[in-house]
Amino acid sequence: NTTYNYERVIILGGGISGLGAALLAHEMQYDVFVSNMGDFKSAFAKALQTNNIPYESGQHTWSTISNASLVVKSPGIPDTAEVVQKFTAQNVPVISEIEFAAAHSNENIIAVTGSNGKTTVTSMIGRILKTDEADYTMGGNIGESFAQQVAQGEASHRLLEVSSFQLDGIKSFKPHVAVLLNVTPDHLDRYDYKFENYLASKMRIALNQDAGDYLIYNADDPAITNALEQSDIKSQRIPFSLEKQLDHGASIVDDSIHIQLEQSTFTMPIQQLSVKGQHNTANAMAAATTAKLLKIRKETIRQSLQSFQGVEHRLEQVLKINKVQYINDSKATNVNATFYALDSMEQPTVWIVGGVDKGNDYSQLYRLVNKHVKAIICLGTDNSKIVEAFGNCVDQMVETSSMEDAVRVAYKLASAGDNVLLSPACASFDLFENYEDRGRQFKNAVRGL
Ligand code: ADP
Repeated sequence: NTTYNYERVIILGGGISGLGAALLAHEMQYDVFVSNMGDFKSAFAKALQTNNIPYESGQHTWSTISNASLVVKSPGIPDTAEVVQKFTAQNVPVISEIEFAAAHSNENIIAVTGSNGKTTVTSMIGRILKTDEADYTMGGNIGESFAQQVAQGEASHRLLEVSSFQLDGIKSFKPHVAVLLNVTPDHLDRYDYKFENYLASKMRIALNQDAGDYLIYNADDPAITNALEQSDIKSQRIPFSLEKQLDHGASIVDDSIHIQLEQSTFTMPIQQLSVKGQHNTANAMAAATTAKLLKIRKETIRQSLQSFQGVEHRLEQVLKINKVQYINDSKATNVNATFYALDSMEQPTVWIVGGVDKGNDYSQLYRLVNKHVKAIICLGTDNSKIVEAFGNCVDQMVETSSMEDAVRVAYKLASAGDNVLLSPACASFDLFENYEDRGRQFKNAVRGL
């Protein structure tokens, strides 16, 4: 572990991770101060007050924070932010909250990253650990922050979902098992619009691993396999693949997941999984491989994956009305996630798509749209790019600018046996607070039909 000087810890940002870092610093009796440019959620401000942790909001007062010996930065604040640059110029270490938390924990870390599937795979592993009655916490980029969980006490396993922004601020963070699901373009605005920078950030998950650690990775993802070929990562590499037969790692044999590790094997028919779609088979492979490495019983793994129904807003089956299935995939905020949603459609589909475009390349969806989509409903304040991309693919295309309208139109266009799929491939901030709000509005509108 890197040792830091904890004389004066300044926390930048007052979201979930800022609060967790503050609580941990307080628990450790460090001199801590939280500086938050935005507004605090009232619950967060209250938690700081209850613990007598000093803070400011609406500004970073340099005279108050400039004497930092260590800065813990929230993932939402880019390295280019003025206040971060000022600390860096003074040679004050600026680290992420997961680095700070890891420096205070000696426990086994299981860390899951990737562009898509993090929450799903983390939750699958969580389900397995729960069924196994293991002593674990689950957090990070999902639920509570890692730091808050460390502040609350010990656990044998720390299961973490980690984002690229969190990985950017690590120096010694070292997962015993790291899972790298896939790397496809996302968040490029934070990476100088260079995919290789974003990829490098994801690869950092294995940066500090040694030969006693494991990296479970997607062998079907050329970005990952190329990066691995060129890297000197020291951990034991365990591939999973939907396409290749592997004598070491996880692959598909006779419509079953088959995992072959040195001492042991694991098999489970794909059909027994509750979650659908190829991507979810891959997710289950990654989760089961992790569980095998943790020496969890095969039956426990199978039972857990069999009962795991998926996470809200991810290809969530909402209702069937007049033999039309409504599906909420609001969490699909990029093209790759929507690719797998469309790929898993087994019925003609009315597709609701749109929102804030992140520089999307829609061409990879054409084949699937032609195959599965009978009508497109655009939902966004600016639909021009979608109209241009898919105008020629379908007979019917309707532009809407509210969820109620979108669902009402979908109801009219769908006939018995069809799906109505909300899978936006875009961010939600034009019409909604966030993807959860978008998904909830969809479900409410469907229930109101
Ligand atoms: P993350 O936490 O990485 O955002 P989620 O599990 O929340 O991932 O899923 C986000 C979106 O990506 C959902 O639309 C989901 O259906 C889709 N998805 C899930 N797993 C994968 C995968 N392995 N590859 C591509 N898309 C996926």
